[in-house]
Amino acid sequence: MRQIQKVVILGGGTAGWMSAALMKKVLGDTVSITLIESDEIGTVGVGEATIPPIRLVNNVLGLNESEFLKETKATIKLAIRFENWKRPGESYFHTFGVPGKSMAFCHFHHVLARGQKLGVEDDLWAYDLNYHCAVAGKFAQINSQDPIMEMPFAYHFDAGLYAQFLRKISEKAGVKRIEGKVQQVLRGQNGDISALVLENSRKIDGEIFIDCSGFKGLLIEQTLGTGFDDWSHWLPCDSAIAVPSEHHQQTVPYTRSIAHKAGWQWQIPLQHRNGNGHVFCSRYITDEEARSVLMENLETKALAEPRLIRFTTGRRRRQWNRNVVAIGLSSGFLEPLESTSIHLIQSGIVRLLQLFPQHDIKPAMVEEYNRQSQLEFEQIRDFLVLHYYLNEREEDFWNDMRHVQVPELLAHKIALFKENGKLFREQNDLFLESSWLQVMVGQGIKPQEYHPLVNTLPDAAIIKMLTQLKAKKLEPVFHLPSHDDYIRHMLSR
Ligand SMILES: Cc1cc2nc3c(=O)[nH]c(=O)nc-3n(C[C@H](O)[C@H](O)[C@H](O)COP(=O)(O)OP(=O)(O)OC[C@H]3O[C@@H](n4cnc5c(N)ncnc54)[C@H](O)[C@@H]3O)c2cc1C
Repeated sequence: MRQIQKVVILGGGTAGWMSAALMKKVLGDTVSITLIESDEIGTVGVGEATIPPIRLVNNVLGLNESEFLKETKATIKLAIRFENWKRPGESYFHTFGVPGKSMAFCHFHHVLARGQKLGVEDDLWAYDLNYHCAVAGKFAQINSQDPIMEMPFAYHFDAGLYAQFLRKISEKAGVKRIEGKVQQVLRGQNGDISALVLENSRKIDGEIFIDCSGFKGLLIEQTLGTGFDDWSHWLPCDSAIAVPSEHHQQTVPYTRSIAHKAGWQWQIPLQHRNGNGHVFCSRYITDEEARSVLMENLETKALAEPRLIRFTTGRRRRQWNRNVVAIGLSSGFLEPLESTSIHLIQSGIVRLLQLFPQHDIKPAMVEEYNRQSQLEFEQIRDFLVLHYYLNEREEDFWNDMRHVQVPELLAHKIALFKENGKLFREQNDLFLESSWLQVMVGQGIKPQEYHPLVNTLPDAAIIKMLTQLKAKKLEPVFHLPSHDDYIRHMLSR
């Protein structure tokens, strides 16, 4: 039995440095951690929107909120606004909040459905604190014991600056960084990777290798030939053009996702600039046309030349293969529609840390890692497909997306919700019922009936409950500072 003592991380993008920082924090000096990166190769250089669990990473690492905001030029994210997704001219929010307040056995939207039958004109979002603060451009952390006043949030940040910030923390904690290009990968008699050889012939050996080398997957794919499940038939977008632009005078606390002819555009507000990009399917639109769509829809002056990035949607067949664990883009890719890639880095490392072997790598731990990773990727994939599938747009791309044969479980979820508004969170699904609800309603599903439990309440009680809830969810908006004032205040601390 060999004690695991040496971990080698290949790659210094967000995936590499997040892996290094978290592993060092949790494993301490029980293992040595070496990270190899090549400035000459560089990083993918995009990725700015996150989801609430990122705050757990910051907490575990003990990051100071003000320092973090300063170092990464971050702003607050309460939601994503989907514009023109159902059809041109219509929009809805997918917030991190939970609308209303659920009864036992029955979600809030059933109560609202009955209220609407009684003449209430408000939609779901009138009962969502995140929504009210997002549209009013307000933010501060709310200290309330009442769970319905929770306002989950995440950040928009410059992922390159975040990686640098994590690098500083990791190196201070004892992670060893080596600058250089890996030219050769050595394998032992059993087929495992034994060492990486740099251009200058320096050899770095290890027992576990974390492949954070980006899309190419130098270890997991180019060396071990693990294989890739291509999901392009469900999510056919294969390209993105990204460009930064000047920031707006007022910074909104949400991401914008704007549907176009053959894809969609993101607009992400940071302190010093906006991040913009156009994700598109090259079968329906040329690169040049996609570039024009992006540039014509920029609201502020571009700060650089637009950059084209190609990708294939899908996942590595085994994200842990032999003694290599793929984290980040090397493990697979799902377009940034719901800002899940950085989260997948986080959950990949957490999973690895939970299963981390004291001695040799055993088959059952590898199998468990791969089982959980596969489930997580598939659940996110289905949630993304939902956005495209439920559209009413007329262009060829959207028409084809409406006729995609969706994964079985997703088809069932949609059918169930259509019939009677029922939603169930699958085991460990990243997205709660409230997320599925907002996208299903936002994309136009109106359930045929509501839960009969709601009929146990008299009409007046339903109206009273809705009136009180709406007032309660709206109330903090009047007292909270603007999002920009909050950021200014935090930066001045
Ligand atoms: C268009 C687009 C938009 C995105 N938007 C979002 C978003 O809004 N939110 C989100 O969460 N995620 C987003 N992502 C994903 C996010 O960018 C990535 O998940 C994240 O940056 C992690 O990248 P990485 O570290 O895996 O790879 P990379 O950034 O590509 O880093 C690879 C590293 O490996 C090193 N390397 C490679 N080969 C060698 C070698 N031979 N020798 C030495 N070093 C080597 C490189 O030098 C580099 O340091 C987006 C991705 C794309 C493509």
